[in-house]
Amino acid sequence: MSTPSQSRNEILFERAQRTTPGGVNSPVRAFRSVGGTPRFIVRAEGAWFWDADGTRYIDYIGSWGPAIVGHAHPEVVKAVQDAAAHGLSFGTPTEGEVEMAEAICRLVPSIEQVRLVSSGTEAAMSGLRLARGATGRTKIVKFEGCYHGHADSMLVKAGSGLLTFGNPTSAGVPENVAADTLVLDYNDPAQLEALFQKVGDEIACVIVEPIAGNMNLLRATPEFLQTMRRLCTQHGAILIFDEVMSGFRVALGGAQSLYGIVPDLTILGKVIGGGLPVAAFGGRAEIMRHLAPLGAVYQAGTLSGNPVAVAAGLATLKLIEQPGFHERLGNQAKRLTTGLVAAAAESGRDFCADAIGGMLGLYFAPRLPRTHAEIMACDKNAFNAFFHAMLDRGVYLAPSAFEAGFISAAHDDAVIDATIAAARDAFA
Ligand SMILES: *Cc1c(COP(=O)(O)O)cnc(C)c1O
Repeated sequence: MSTPSQSRNEILFERAQRTTPGGVNSPVRAFRSVGGTPRFIVRAEGAWFWDADGTRYIDYIGSWGPAIVGHAHPEVVKAVQDAAAHGLSFGTPTEGEVEMAEAICRLVPSIEQVRLVSSGTEAAMSGLRLARGATGRTKIVKFEGCYHGHADSMLVKAGSGLLTFGNPTSAGVPENVAADTLVLDYNDPAQLEALFQKVGDEIACVIVEPIAGNMNLLRATPEFLQTMRRLCTQHGAILIFDEVMSGFRVALGGAQSLYGIVPDLTILGKVIGGGLPVAAFGGRAEIMRHLAPLGAVYQAGTLSGNPVAVAAGLATLKLIEQPGFHERLGNQAKRLTTGLVAAAAESGRDFCADAIGGMLGLYFAPRLPRTHAEIMACDKNAFNAFFHAMLDRGVYLAPSAFEAGFISAAHDDAVIDATIAAARDAFA
């Protein structure tokens, strides 16, 4: 029963919890980490969204990445409407999928062939199966703090020693599945060397976020990625860059274009759907030919390459391909982080910030973190207080100290300056 003093958000959250576990369809939306009532969003436009109580917020999650051109961009909306009017799904190949594949291969040259799927989880899971099928090996290597979707073999944390088996991080993941996933520290090339020296010839693939965005924002050191590339080549393991978040966002060609490192396979998602469900995995044709119907690695999807979703993705890619798009995005992100750091300094806060293209990291720490352990040492309570102070001032940050932030092309100077003004107030 609702009471007169309850907000629409609270009423909806109560209702949601009756029929949906925790009231949400993806855990971080529930505000468990920061506390409070999640906002139920009813409408979004440009850099803004509005909740069920009519409160307006500057949005820094951008649907967790996809909304890079701003919400409800007229050209993306029109592309979706036009496609929808021609039918929602056919279960046959379409020209849009060909255009999408051509666009991806052009923008990310390490990808010679690509397959479209519907979520980043599905893309990563399929990429891992492909790597195992193509190499005939079973062991996979990932890094603590990286997220590659919620497939069984990726919900794994490090065991107690370098060569012990990985342990499940979720109930329902069998230990024997986790056992084939080896988990190492991010930005520790020496550990990688040691592992490859021992079991290099059993490793099917190494999967990494080349710029990590699921433990807040954490830059890989060039040495870390270079070592990974060299070891994979030496031992015949497949190097998979999971660029679901960084792809098309840190730069048009993704993190791989910034570091100048060529992975064997790349996982994409988020931005390539422009807000509708599109994800992809692709890479060297010689590896991709192992996929059905050409090869023995099975993978399929009723809604893969869905015409409406592909139309949204193509319209978004067209917009971000315009000259100077990422440079402007990067400049706006820099304007924001510089302003936030200055505002924190006025109040004597231990705070720093980083940005790469349209991806942001905010840290309640005296120095920029370089490792997962340093990220975990950031002051979570200070973040949570800041999160709520900003929310009260109409700025919606990711509701967790350990998530990256996102800006869009619609975050103009006025929006950024309003955010900095809110932060000056919030820090004080
Ligand atoms: C979001 C994300 C995924 C999972 O994508 P979903 O579409 O949520 O399944 C995988 N990898 C990375 C790096 C991500 O940021």
